[in-house]
Order: sequence, then C-alpha cells, then structure tokens
Amino acid sequence: MINLPVLVLNQSYEPFNICRVRRAVVLLYQNKAEMLENGSGFIHSANFEFPVPSVIRLAFMIKRPRRYERKLTRLEIFRRDHYTCQYCSKETQQLTLDHVIPRYQDGQHTWENVVSACVACNRRKAGRTPQEAGMRLIRQPSRPHGNGLFYIPAHYPHIRGEWQKYLPG
Ligand SMILES: [Zn+2]
Repeated sequence: MINLPVLVLNQSYEPFNICRVRRAVVLLYQNKAEMLENGSGFIHSANFEFPVPSVIRLAFMIKRPRRYERKLTRLEIFRRDHYTCQYCSKETQQLTLDHVIPRYQDGQHTWENVVSACVACNRRKAGRTPQEAGMRLIRQPSRPHGNGLFYIPAHYPHIRGEWQKYLPG
C-alpha cells in the first residue's frame, strides 16, 4: 500500500509527477500538499490513521523547464502511434520499428522518421522507402507533444480511475 502510485499536481492543478504513497504521506504530514483524492482506505499505526492518498496537490508552485523531452524509445513510438501500424492501420501489439527513409539511405533515427509497422508491412517494405515499396503512411510522423510538461511513461501499467479528471486528454 505504501508503494502505490500517487498523482502529484502542481499548485496550479497541472499534473506534475507521480510519487509513491510513502512520499505523499510525508508531504501531507508536513503540510506541503493537500489531499484531493483518497485512494484506498487508511494506513493505521498505533496512534493514528492516515488516509491513503491517490491524488495530492502541492501547496506551492514548482517550476520546471518548459520543454519536457520525451525519449525516443520503441515503447514511446508505439504509444505515439496508438499501437497501430502506420502503413496498413492494423492495431496490434506485434509491432516493429520502421525507419521511413531507411538508415542506409541516411534516414535519421528521429521522431519524424521512425514509425510503428506491423510485421507484414515491415517485411513488405523491406528496407526501401515507402515510395519505392509502393506504400503510404497513414499520417506523417512527428514528435509527440502532449501538454509538454507531464506525461505518464509508456511503461506505466495503468492509470488509476480517480486520476482521470486531473489528466489532460
Ligand atoms: Zn501493417
């Protein structure tokens, strides 16, 4: 229970990051945050009981750099593409990374040149450009932006229900 994830909002109510219950309880106890959602019951000790927070809001504003860069990883590409092959629109977990302009033709490893492709399309494209292979992208790949400040990492297992109303999109 002490390790459950807690959504931390900035004073402005913008999602700021995710911490563990243990850390959230300390922030609450020190009056550095207020609890907005009580996740799952109470933590009991000999002398007190403390609600298990699920969403807290900081009592002060934390500034962070405007640009919060996402790392270009397989999972982030699949996530950006909504687990959909960017050539045939098939939704699948069996995806590969495809360099639109192949690397040996000087294609870059960038958000703008890497897309999700299903195994069949990857085979069909076979190291050619879409034009050479007679294939078309369903959309032009680009760097994902979100709100630029916060996002839940692709590997994050699930979003808790009571978080939804605080998250953009
Ligand atoms: Zn495909």
